[in-house]
Amino acid sequence: MSTLEQVRIEVPLIDVNAQNDAILEELEHAASAVIRSGRYILGTEVAALEKEIAELVGVKHAIGVSSGTDALLVALMAIGIGPGDEVICPDFTFFATAGCVARLGATPVFADVCPVCFNLDAEKAAAKISSRTKAIIPVHLFGQSADMASIQSLAEEHDLKVIEDAAQALGAEYRGKPCGTIGDIGTYSFFPTKNLGGLGDGGMLVTDDDDLAHEARLLRNHGMEPKYQYQRLGGNFRLDEIQAALLRVKLRHLRDYETRRAANASYYHEALSMLPGVSIASEADCCCPLITEKAGDAAEGVGLVLPVAYAHNKHVWNQFTLRVTGGGRDRLKTFLAERRIASEIYYPVPLRRQPCFEEPGAITAGEAENADVLANEVLSLPVYPELADDQREAVVEAIRSFLL
Ligand SMILES: *Cc1c(COP(=O)(O)O)cnc(C)c1O
Repeated sequence: MSTLEQVRIEVPLIDVNAQNDAILEELEHAASAVIRSGRYILGTEVAALEKEIAELVGVKHAIGVSSGTDALLVALMAIGIGPGDEVICPDFTFFATAGCVARLGATPVFADVCPVCFNLDAEKAAAKISSRTKAIIPVHLFGQSADMASIQSLAEEHDLKVIEDAAQALGAEYRGKPCGTIGDIGTYSFFPTKNLGGLGDGGMLVTDDDDLAHEARLLRNHGMEPKYQYQRLGGNFRLDEIQAALLRVKLRHLRDYETRRAANASYYHEALSMLPGVSIASEADCCCPLITEKAGDAAEGVGLVLPVAYAHNKHVWNQFTLRVTGGGRDRLKTFLAERRIASEIYYPVPLRRQPCFEEPGAITAGEAENADVLANEVLSLPVYPELADDQREAVVEAIRSFLL
């Protein structure tokens, strides 16, 4: 290794080993206890994790499931979504949000998102409502809440169920209320890159509604009640005992992870906003109402627009996603990669343009929405809790040299 390579700091997008090594004994102890117990499916660990998550977010019911995707699927099944139904989803989100709708034979109807907060624009969603619309799925993308007041009132007006896809937003809040607990059902993911990252797949569904909770519990276990009698067409959507035990260990550290993510985001805001061509996303352009700050002038050429965290939201920074305007996004990504700094494009293609959803003729050429602009401009920087000072400094240094 040359001297140059030795001094170069490597910055991954996330470092699960750094996180888990720090609590290795706790994790091993928890896993070992489950192994010795001989009880691997729907035992005390899953029940305890459900209770802890319910307490954390303040809901009556939490139901552990096999993944964040299955949490969405079970939620949609519990509210009875099926063929002929339409469900409004943001065009710019992870695939699972809409994939689950389509898997049930229903139609995901894509609504455009806000270029500032990245979330579903309630006005655009309103324009997509038809007599077949049964539900709406706001996603709290990157760890910041969607504009839930507007979405809830839209849902009330049109009698829609609201499923919050809070896969990236466990611990986040909207006006003091935990994300996932505002609509009819909320879903979380414990995929290793999420804020509460498991050592494998896992998810959770939360609700205050006794009937929906009962349905969800049935559905995650084949719809069985009592034993070997099947009330519903459910499936095996169960969370493993061993995963629940490991997640309970990690849950004890969630606040600490959250604090460190927020500190990294503040650091980026402070350090990057001083560079030429860098601005913070203009709140005045956001879909969220009641935000009045004046818009700044758009920078010319390649510029960075940093994400905005609203005072009325608690942002949990699952991703620190900025926009690279002026067509420089891919160049910046390559420039960082050459300096051993990882970054990622969440997400490069709006869902309505995905081959599996594309209806022939449904897309007119040249039709561009905010989702298309974001798909071309977004870049997520490493913001994980274990990011060291010299690593985040290296990220800022590299961006500085890119912009100069
Ligand atoms: C991660 C994620 C999911 C799916 O969760 P899995 O646990 O990976 O199945 C769903 N929606 C969003 C927005 C996500 O980020």
